[in-house]
Amino acid sequence: MPREALLNSALALQALGLNQGTSGNASVRQGDGFVITPSGMPIDEMNANSMVEMNMLGGAISAGKPSSEWRFHRDIYQARQEVGAVIHTHSMFATTLACLRKDIPPFHYMIAVAGGDSIRCAPYALFGTQALSDHAIEALKKRRACLLANHGMIAVGKTLQQAQEVAKEVETLCEQYWRALQIGEPHNLTAEEMQDVFEQFKGYGNWNK
Ligand code: 13P
Ligand code: ZN
Repeated sequence: MPREALLNSALALQALGLNQGTSGNASVRQGDGFVITPSGMPIDEMNANSMVEMNMLGGAISAGKPSSEWRFHRDIYQARQEVGAVIHTHSMFATTLACLRKDIPPFHYMIAVAGGDSIRCAPYALFGTQALSDHAIEALKKRRACLLANHGMIAVGKTLQQAQEVAKEVETLCEQYWRALQIGEPHNLTAEEMQDVFEQFKGYGNWNK
């Protein structure tokens, strides 16, 4: 059941330290629409009934107030047919780097998990706005994740499980990049080296399934 799966995902994101309180949100595609976490509700207070079903016009078709970020969730499902789940976090290291408004370069080969040779940082826009969604869609082109300036990150996947795995890896990459920056200037992999990584990734794990 999507409502239960979404609740479990929100709880898992909190247990992993990626979200807390009312920060962040998550959704999963359902039929012609999607189910999304409620707005402004601490994760500890959520239950399966708190989840809000929405159509692609942005209308709530069940009780409750949908996440203020329903626009970028909706727009991602419309723009990316392969995406089945969207996770948004204010996790510590992704958010710290997002405050620098810098793309993450290919300093580590695992950046391939995010779908390319960088993790882009979308320009700043107020939370809950169409402008933020427009920036996010652009930054997510050919990617499974992006940073949101002065805000946090978005990770997408075919399933909630995959979106969660992407979010976890992106947070780890951001922590590694942050740590490396404390003691020097990290060396980046070349475009050629990243091509080899993409080839190797074709047969690695579940990332391309
Ligand atoms: P919601 O509680 O409305 O989902 O907002 C949290 C958030 O992270 C806004 O960007
Ligand atoms: Zn947010």
